[in-house]
Amino acid sequence: MGLEDFPRYPLMFGPSPVHPLPRLTEHLGGAQVWAKREDVNSGLAFGGNKTRKLEYLVPDALAQGADTLVSIGGVQSNHTRQVAAVAAKLGLKAVLVQEAWVDWPDSVNDRVGNILLSRIMGAEVRLDPAGFDIGFRDSWEQALADVKERGGTPYAIPAGASDHRLGGLGFANWAYEVAQQEREMGIFFDTIVVCSVTGSTQAGMIAGFAGQDRPRRVLGIDASARLEATTAQVARIARNTAELIGLGRDLRDDEITVLEGWAGDYYGIPVQSTLDAIRLSGSLEGMIIDPVYEGKSMAALVDLVASGDIPKDSNVLYAHLGGQPALNAYSALFRA
Ligand SMILES: *Cc1c(COP(=O)(O)O)cnc(C)c1O
Repeated sequence: MGLEDFPRYPLMFGPSPVHPLPRLTEHLGGAQVWAKREDVNSGLAFGGNKTRKLEYLVPDALAQGADTLVSIGGVQSNHTRQVAAVAAKLGLKAVLVQEAWVDWPDSVNDRVGNILLSRIMGAEVRLDPAGFDIGFRDSWEQALADVKERGGTPYAIPAGASDHRLGGLGFANWAYEVAQQEREMGIFFDTIVVCSVTGSTQAGMIAGFAGQDRPRRVLGIDASARLEATTAQVARIARNTAELIGLGRDLRDDEITVLEGWAGDYYGIPVQSTLDAIRLSGSLEGMIIDPVYEGKSMAALVDLVASGDIPKDSNVLYAHLGGQPALNAYSALFRA
């Protein structure tokens, strides 16, 4: 059994683009920095990493005869916005539970950005006051029950499409895509920097790269401010995914690295290094990143390259996972 044995429903333009970041590289004065851009991977509502994961969940949903995708996230969840887009594309309904994962006082937080886009795409958006948790919730069970009561057939997609049997496959495929792009471009990325919260993005990468037999570090950057929970979830999903795609060996602990130090105190709340990283990649490369996820992983990349933890002779690939719509709820931070 290998990854190619799992049906994949194409939702992206094709392989996501890989390109160098020369001005950022020069500014940092160390490793060569490149980006692989999930933020432009699809024409579905700005795409992102969840769109890639959903390529492997959609065939399962269709095979089960589902007519409604049910999912959950924070008020400014990128994931639920991508579920809404995929539902629209397939002619399915979407029910989205949006919880108060982030205590963020912006007066338009529940009206702009991701949640606005989900409403435009016709999703049923349910605001729920519960706090941050990447696990399973009552509000979510309720949404599933409501769909059934109306005579519908729900398909349950957990937060970030992570805690799902097939959740890691999309980024296992990303690892194969990177290897193909490396052959085409004649380059090898020895270090990957990727943001981790619900875990299946990094987990899928680890499982996918594990079969490639080249010395490569996948550095997960925790953005949940709960390192232990994030690491445990990444490890579990990576091992499940490796088994699913027939790796044929257990993953070693040294293949699973999640680093802390850039999340600040809370998921969803940027700190100074996040804002500096957002301004840096915007002003040097015209590359926009968000305050919840990518600003934190970019802050890590900046520090790790500057300190030499990622050595000078490295080619480092920054996985840009999307998420820019949430910036609209953080405008107050950029007025000056
Ligand atoms: C969901 C998300 C992440 C984190 O990915 P996980 O698979 O949940 O670890 C990072 N960046 C963006 C923009 C996201 O939407």
